[in-house]
Amino acid sequence: MEPINEEDIKMYFYENRLKTFEGWPFDEDCSCTPENMARAGFIHTPSGNSPDIAMCFFCLKELEGWEPEDDPEKEHKSHSASCHFMALKKKVEDLTVEEFFKLQKERHKFIIVRCSGNTRHVDLLIDII
Ligand SMILES: [Zn+2]
Repeated sequence: MEPINEEDIKMYFYENRLKTFEGWPFDEDCSCTPENMARAGFIHTPSGNSPDIAMCFFCLKELEGWEPEDDPEKEHKSHSASCHFMALKKKVEDLTVEEFFKLQKERHKFIIVRCSGNTRHVDLLIDII
């Protein structure tokens, strides 16, 4: 396993995810506030003409086209049922060491799937990272 990268570990924490939502178009009187987005595991990943792209830090699911009444947690679950962070329903601070490593492992799985575009051998790879 690679040494733990501090930049990488940072986004496990709600406060740091919340900081990414600067310039997020939904702020008051709506469901998808920066607080609710960060709580649901999202980080803000805007691009030039799409200021409302958010990505789950844990399953890497990107969602855009948010509506003020969208509930980040519900949207997350419906678009990414296999997200381990959503399944845990716990703050990272409250996880046991085992739970934390499991979360990290699940996250690596999503990274590999995303990079390779196929799921074959992913479990094999997971054992070596
Ligand atoms: Zn997720």
